[in-house]
Amino acid sequence: MEFKELGLAEELLRAIAEEGYVEPTPIQAKAIPLVLLGKDLMGAAQTGTGKTASFTLPLLHRMKAHANTSASPARHPIRALILTPTRELAVQVWESVRTYSRHLPLRSTVVYGGVDIQPQIQDLRAGVEILVATPGRLLDHVQQKTLQLGQVEFLVLDEADRMLDMGFIPDIKRILALLPARRQSLLFSATFSEDIRKLADDFMREPIMVEVARRNSVTETVTHALYRVPELRKRELLARLVLDRDLKQVLVFVRTRLGANRLAHQLVRDGIDATAIHSNRTQAERTEALQAFKDGKVRVLVATDVAARGLDIDSLPCVINFELPHVPEDYVHRIGRTGRAGQSGEAISLVSPAEQELLERIEKLLKATIEERVLAGFDGEGRPSAARPPREGGRDGGREGRRDGGREGGRDGSREGRSESPRPPRDGTAAARSPRPAPRREEDPFFSKPYEAGEAADKTERTPAPVSPVRGAAARPVAALFRPPVTGPKR
Ligand code: AMP
Repeated sequence: MEFKELGLAEELLRAIAEEGYVEPTPIQAKAIPLVLLGKDLMGAAQTGTGKTASFTLPLLHRMKAHANTSASPARHPIRALILTPTRELAVQVWESVRTYSRHLPLRSTVVYGGVDIQPQIQDLRAGVEILVATPGRLLDHVQQKTLQLGQVEFLVLDEADRMLDMGFIPDIKRILALLPARRQSLLFSATFSEDIRKLADDFMREPIMVEVARRNSVTETVTHALYRVPELRKRELLARLVLDRDLKQVLVFVRTRLGANRLAHQLVRDGIDATAIHSNRTQAERTEALQAFKDGKVRVLVATDVAARGLDIDSLPCVINFELPHVPEDYVHRIGRTGRAGQSGEAISLVSPAEQELLERIEKLLKATIEERVLAGFDGEGRPSAARPPREGGRDGGREGRRDGGREGGRDGSREGRSESPRPPRDGTAAARSPRPAPRREEDPFFSKPYEAGEAADKTERTPAPVSPVRGAAARPVAALFRPPVTGPKR
């Protein structure tokens, strides 16, 4: 299928062609015609599938009738409201809006918390048709009466599952109450829990479900692999993988902020350029870390789940789970950073014996067994006492070997495996019968704090957009990562 078959305006087709898109992605092919027809839509699509264009393009098409060059703010009321859980995602969505609307006289801006509210107020006063916002800051503006939502015709909830996880639902409900009842509503989410469906029931009109991948599944272009390793040797294994395979750009996930800092420092000591990105760092520090990664100055970016949310990373070849996430859905989100837009990617997990149960939960969610690999020098280590012995000898005495994972079978009995605690369950069924409660996951108070009027509204400087560009730089061996630079908050 070609874009022009979708019936989009010529100005949009031109912008798409300039981006170098050849054909619509599956979510775009399915969603665009429905949005053009004015239907409410629930899109089951994760980041990397082209979902942003799948709602932005048809909304811009529908708003084209209102496009005008008048200087009067009254001629530019907010017609489309796009809500995202994080400021990073907000900026990225807004960049897409700007990219696709560049040939139309439609105005857009983005508002998010943690930065000075005044410049946002000025942008809003001038009038914008499309507003991308995080919920808390939007409510700040509502309270300060710096925007009007009475003419909103289109609402998009992007990454609704994240909004739910981060406790934004009360804020969302408050916002919904301020919108006209007659509107088109779109909801996108990587996963569709019962809670998400309930939320959708509350505010959508006979929504049509559009799915591009199995629910809770990960991109098919991603290869999944795991290495068994005792906790204490993980860093060594990671360094070996990066150096032996000459990995140039790796996003490494850990569970805690402290862990992220520590690992980045240790990798630097091992001679690998690394930096950490997490929620304790200021926006400027995060921006700097991302920029260094993008520029190829650091090859390993160590991130926590919260900090990595919403990062728009195109064609990142490799994601490594230094620690498995406590919540299996986070595995899906982490892996969403690689194998994007049809490119191949690799997701590697370093699994200690104590993480066996977490691994089993992830495999249950994926409905697949992750392939097990062995690195010379690490073979026979890190295996939990009763889990996944090799089915057959797969070692090749020096190079990286592979083993099929099989749960049944005898024990390996490695010293390291036994010395790890707590002892993992002997089989999957035991784990399934008595799951340990998942520990609280790391929270970024910046994102997860409930809405407080005026919060952080006047504290911080207006920071530049957290990421910058490399559109058109795909030919470079590293850092074909981020979207074009943001030159100002409003076009
Ligand atoms: P998203 O899932 O919206 O975060 O998009 C992931 C990436 O795919 C973005 O960098 C887009 O620029 C890119 N993209 C979106 N649509 C297409 C398309 N039809 N062809 C190629 N790349 C695309």
